[in-house]
Amino acid sequence: MTAHPVLRLKRGHDRPRVHPWIFKADVADVSDVAPGTGLTILDASARFVGRGFYNPRPTLCCRILTRRDEPFDLAFFRGRLEAALHRPGRSAATTSSPATAARLVWSEADLLPGLVVDRYADTLVLQCQTLGMTRVRPLLVAALRAVLGDRPVLDADDDTPAALEGFEPARGWFDRPGPDDVVVDEGAVRLRVSLGTGHKTGLYLDQAENRQRVARLARDRDVLDAFAYTAGFACHALQGGARRALCLESSPEAIRDAHTNLALNGLTGRAEVRAGNAFDELRRLGRERARFGLIILDPPPFAPSRAALPAAGRGYKDINLRAMRLLAPGGHLMTFACSHHVTASRFEEICREAAADAGISPWVVEPLTQAVDHPVLLTVPETRYLNGLLLRAG
Ligand code: SAH
Repeated sequence: MTAHPVLRLKRGHDRPRVHPWIFKADVADVSDVAPGTGLTILDASARFVGRGFYNPRPTLCCRILTRRDEPFDLAFFRGRLEAALHRPGRSAATTSSPATAARLVWSEADLLPGLVVDRYADTLVLQCQTLGMTRVRPLLVAALRAVLGDRPVLDADDDTPAALEGFEPARGWFDRPGPDDVVVDEGAVRLRVSLGTGHKTGLYLDQAENRQRVARLARDRDVLDAFAYTAGFACHALQGGARRALCLESSPEAIRDAHTNLALNGLTGRAEVRAGNAFDELRRLGRERARFGLIILDPPPFAPSRAALPAAGRGYKDINLRAMRLLAPGGHLMTFACSHHVTASRFEEICREAAADAGISPWVVEPLTQAVDHPVLLTVPETRYLNGLLLRAG
């Protein structure tokens, strides 16, 4: 073990000067440290670049947390959290109604790569995505409580980064137990969030603003909410005056919570939740010549890696083509791709091909992206990952 562990970059590997990611191929040499340790990054001429957590296991072996020579202690994390909470668009969410849900810390975009913190009413949900972050988890919780008060903290680590980084994902209450579920307000809709059993940290918070957008498009329309999860889009559409909503979803837990949310908002009578594969259901609706005035397509990421891009392109084209064929005259399609590998321009191209095959020529009403509490850092293009289009058929 070295007293002041150091990672030295290869000559000409300058990307880490502006971008927090260091890959194994960038590394000239590194001190003998335990995986997950914080170390100092130097360039080939021994100039200071920053400090980050190092893990020899993944190809992306180090993420830079700071450009200053400072320790990763309670004061450091507290400072980072305070800055994150005061970012424009987020400060209101942290101080407003006690029933708010919001993302408080979003990894690279909040200069805390490998850490996600969400708030669901009084509860904080913590997701560590790097081994380094798991090692400072008690410090992170102490910093969160110092800034936000003594709240229950739920660990909700995700399997995929845990497997890549080589740690056991923590799931469950950090120390004292909190509630099994909470009800949060999202505009005019109330949503029940199962803590510790749902997808992501409970809700797809990145879609909160887009969910609220559909209310004003929905009046007197038949709505199709494909890949509905807990029926958030459908609830907003029905609350906005939609005639009926059909939700398509494959996960039994999500379907259970979708029924709960529809009931919670008094919307059960106008909604149907169909269990099954949305690809098959879209095909079946096509055969039945069904028509909808508003369709939401919010699938899971088809392109988790660059290698998956060609297959993902075919998948996105297929569902968009099928959805476009189901659009009533003048109908709206709100369609998304949630992987940074599928850029906004690529997604638009896929939708263009789908429209050509569907024989329609829709207008782009507006481009859509992730909610403002998922900020985008210009120098880290991967922080923009949710691309969507609101289209209107002629
Ligand atoms: N629109 C939702 C989030 C959708 S996430 C919201 O705003 O809350 C994608 C959803 O698609 C997940 O709930 C997942 O369970 C579901 N899903 C994944 N593959 C599916 C498939 N082939 N058919 C139907 N649902 C699917």
